[in-house]
Amino acid sequence: MTTDTLNDLKKILRPEQVTTDQEELYDASADRYKKYAKVKNVLDVPAPTAIVYPTSAEETAELLAYCNDNNINVIPRSGKTATEGGLENWKDHTLVIDGSKMDDIVKIDTYNMQATVQAGVPLQILEDKLRELGYTTGHSPQSKPVAQMGGLVSTRSIGQFSTFYGAIEDMVVGLECVFPDGHISRIKNVPRRSGGPDIRHIAIGNEGALCYITEVTVKIFKFYPENHSFYGYLVDNVDDGLKVLREVMVNGYKPSVARLYSPQDARQHFSHFYKEQCVLIFMNEGPKGIVEATNAAVEEAVEKFQSSIVEQVDSSLIETWFNNLNWDQSRIEKEFRDMAENNTHDGFTTEVSGDWESISRIYHNVMARIEKEFDRYDDLTMLGGHSSHSYLNGTNMYFVYNYEINCAPEDELLTYHHPIHEIIIEETLKAGGSMCHHHGIGKYRSEWTKDEHGSAYYMLEGLKQVFDPKGTMNHGTIFPQEAEIKKYIRD
Ligand SMILES: Cc1cc2nc3c(=O)[nH]c(=O)nc-3n(C[C@H](O)[C@H](O)[C@H](O)COP(=O)(O)OP(=O)(O)OC[C@H]3O[C@@H](n4cnc5c(N)ncnc54)[C@H](O)[C@@H]3O)c2cc1C
Repeated sequence: MTTDTLNDLKKILRPEQVTTDQEELYDASADRYKKYAKVKNVLDVPAPTAIVYPTSAEETAELLAYCNDNNINVIPRSGKTATEGGLENWKDHTLVIDGSKMDDIVKIDTYNMQATVQAGVPLQILEDKLRELGYTTGHSPQSKPVAQMGGLVSTRSIGQFSTFYGAIEDMVVGLECVFPDGHISRIKNVPRRSGGPDIRHIAIGNEGALCYITEVTVKIFKFYPENHSFYGYLVDNVDDGLKVLREVMVNGYKPSVARLYSPQDARQHFSHFYKEQCVLIFMNEGPKGIVEATNAAVEEAVEKFQSSIVEQVDSSLIETWFNNLNWDQSRIEKEFRDMAENNTHDGFTTEVSGDWESISRIYHNVMARIEKEFDRYDDLTMLGGHSSHSYLNGTNMYFVYNYEINCAPEDELLTYHHPIHEIIIEETLKAGGSMCHHHGIGKYRSEWTKDEHGSAYYMLEGLKQVFDPKGTMNHGTIFPQEAEIKKYIRD
């Protein structure tokens, strides 16, 4: 990008809305996926040329049209908590469009039970405002203190209380988004309609690869903290724990939280009561009658599988654990510092989903294959997983792995993360599951986008051709780019 381009940008925006600070550009060239390489200063990708901060949909439209006309790659950015390389830059000419200055809570409408916000509003700010009024978004990903509404919608995020409130796609009522040719689309807020395909889903989950989300309207819910109930159990094994989860779900109940931790994963979360078994957790919320009925359903399900339940855990321990689960910016930064100092990588995750029949097969096949095939197995300090989002017809499995890094920093991903990640994805796809339950595809799962969608990839690819024919939006995200996959992932 030339000086001319920077001058052009300063005509569209005020000078203070354009950043070319080298440190900020280095930070913007990759996300958490390459956090170790980033802290070790060995990032192998080009830095974007500038970061810009529009304050309205109109400014965003002007910027997008400018980039589209001038072959400049655009990376939309919100709270920067992306985990799959959605913010990583693979092009020499790139503009990061950061929505965090579009941060107005436009309207909280407690009569129609919906809130409209600009895309740069952090979820925590909206949630705090709603709580003051006795309401909640019901959305609580662990990144809630930092992630912003635009990013949360564009990644199809999901929160800890999803089993009761749903994931973000169940919450979005309408939205406003901007396409690379500068067209602004507003999808109106109605409770339901049969006006053709549901076009909200072109924007929800697009990961910045089709359009830029500038405003969203989400449902809000009455909040009843006085009714919350918590349950915790130690369970013999993963399969029996999954059976208890299934029992509650197929009987038609919706706890807000229904989770099962493998013994290895339980050890790192529940050291205060861990006894080398799985940990099963439920939380119920909502109006009193619903909570009481759900409490009874949980107790009945546990009773049915009593022979696998080792003991019940004091519910206050589960409540305290939940209250300390979320990550704010200082915790994220501490994690980076710890990695750099200790040469360890804690908390790499690959989260997948499958129906009730296949999920335990996926879990066992993955664990067995990693032990057998991963030649750095001895460097693993933890390998396990948990099911944290359950549905009528199945659940997810969130594989987690920690390791010591005994190689050059630039080789870390190829040596450790990729082989493990690949086994998890292969086993999941083989079993008919989804390789991406909630972190999105980003750039690091794009190798498997076609396998994920099979013959329906035709439909996904069609969206890219129609809405972003020049490939302006987030090059390499969702839609595979063979040359860059080879350059930045495989070599
Ligand atoms: C500690 C931690 C915990 C997490 N826990 C969860 C969890 O519980 N559940 C969960 O689902 N995820 C979780 N994540 C992943 C991450 O927080 C989510 O993917 C989140 O939705 C990203 O939001 P963001 O505002 O940070 O977006 P960013 O990281 O800025 O961007 C994410 C992606 O969306 C695109 N994008 C951003 N803004 C826009 C926009 N306005 N329009 C179009 N595209 C856009 C970007 O280009 C990128 O591809 C976690 C991450 C961390 C670091």
